Amino acid sequence: MKELDTHTYRLAVAQFDQAAETMQLDRNLRERLKLPQRSLVVSVPVRMDDGRVEVFTGYRVQHDSSRGPSKGGIRYHPDVNLGEVAALAMWMTWKCALAGLPYGGAKGGVTVAPKQLSRAELQRLTRRYAAEIFPLIGPDQDVPAPDVGTDAQTMAWIMDTYSQQVGYAVPGVVTGKPVSIGGSLGREEATGRGVVYVTLEALRQLNLSVQDATVAVQGFGNVGSHTALIMQQQGARVIAVSDVTGGIYNPRGLDVRDLLDRYKTRGQSLRDTKMGDWLSNEELLQLDCTVLVPAALSEQITGKNAASLRCRILAEGANGPTTLEADRILEDKGVFIIPDILANSGGVIVSYFEWVQDLQRFFWSETDIRNRLQEIITSAFHRTKQFATERCVSMRMAALMSGIDKVAQAHLQRGLYP
Ligand code: NAD
Repeated sequence: MKELDTHTYRLAVAQFDQAAETMQLDRNLRERLKLPQRSLVVSVPVRMDDGRVEVFTGYRVQHDSSRGPSKGGIRYHPDVNLGEVAALAMWMTWKCALAGLPYGGAKGGVTVAPKQLSRAELQRLTRRYAAEIFPLIGPDQDVPAPDVGTDAQTMAWIMDTYSQQVGYAVPGVVTGKPVSIGGSLGREEATGRGVVYVTLEALRQLNLSVQDATVAVQGFGNVGSHTALIMQQQGARVIAVSDVTGGIYNPRGLDVRDLLDRYKTRGQSLRDTKMGDWLSNEELLQLDCTVLVPAALSEQITGKNAASLRCRILAEGANGPTTLEADRILEDKGVFIIPDILANSGGVIVSYFEWVQDLQRFFWSETDIRNRLQEIITSAFHRTKQFATERCVSMRMAALMSGIDKVAQAHLQRGLYP
């Protein structure tokens, strides 16, 4: 499909092709799984504060629903396009299957720079987008969650818009919403916490101690900030963090709690905190560190810069941060890669907990959430590591092949309709 042909989609398909070839996946299934099951493109007219009407483009793509309702975040970013959303939806399918969650993959997005809109404009945009994708979403159908540029407030507006349409409260239509309307304890930090749990396992595999580990994090939003904070709480030294403007570096270690207080609560820019030397995102990726966590956008580590990376472990908080060419270079250098569909699966795992709690109307303690998250993601890590060792493939291929295999089994057992 021509509209899908973007670089992010090509990366997702190239990874899939490589895994499918290695596992000798049934040829008919390959054709189907390369493409999304359903793609909806919508126009989202929004009355701006100055009275003008601006029309944005929104998407919701369901890649696969053979194992259950589809699940995936909603992204607000100026570069959002159908190919990127479809790639992210495909990765969600493998991620949910790898973690053993009863979900297929989906993703949504609107091509918009959210920081340039007022809160009222964002609310109108979100509500109209939710109304346009209403036919596709629902607790048994497709359950959105936050991603880049969206948060718990966005989910609250979607939950309310959906509930207004059907006439009663439906908390299970989205996850990552505020606790007051059926959100789960521990969801906001879940992706970062999951990144930390698998990083601790990787450090153990390499006989490295967390107390001696240094960490650099690209992206200081939901995933990056929680990863940095929890890594520090575990005893690691966080030496650099960045956002879209660039980053700060302090080899003695940043006080992440203090930094977050200044950055998130008091609204200071990273540069204005003066807590470290200023550096570019490119320089951050090349820092000498034990753990590098890309937690921003896709395709940040490429054939051009991979050879300059000096980390021991690459924990992929972001989706698709590493190109195939970079993968090969990093493997030759002996970098231990914790692939995205494993490393950042904490978000969808706790989203699953949230959905289960909403459906049962019975809520769990934060300790239950953390323990169950750790159990599921740590066991996925060890299954992937064992698979990689037994089949002599990379951690990325092992994760993809395990996920794809579960989806393939579901398709073969259900059969082809009609
Ligand atoms: P976010 O919007 O909260 O934060 C994104 C961060 O990246 C911000 O600090 C932003 O300034 C920074 N950034 C944007 N463009 C950048 C660039 N070109 N260079 C460097 N930094 C840049 O988003 P998030 O929810 O933290 O998501 C980050 C990544 O993690 C995405 O790839 C997302 O798909 C993935 N992810 C998120 C979740 C989740 O639960 N939120 C779950 C799994 C994966």
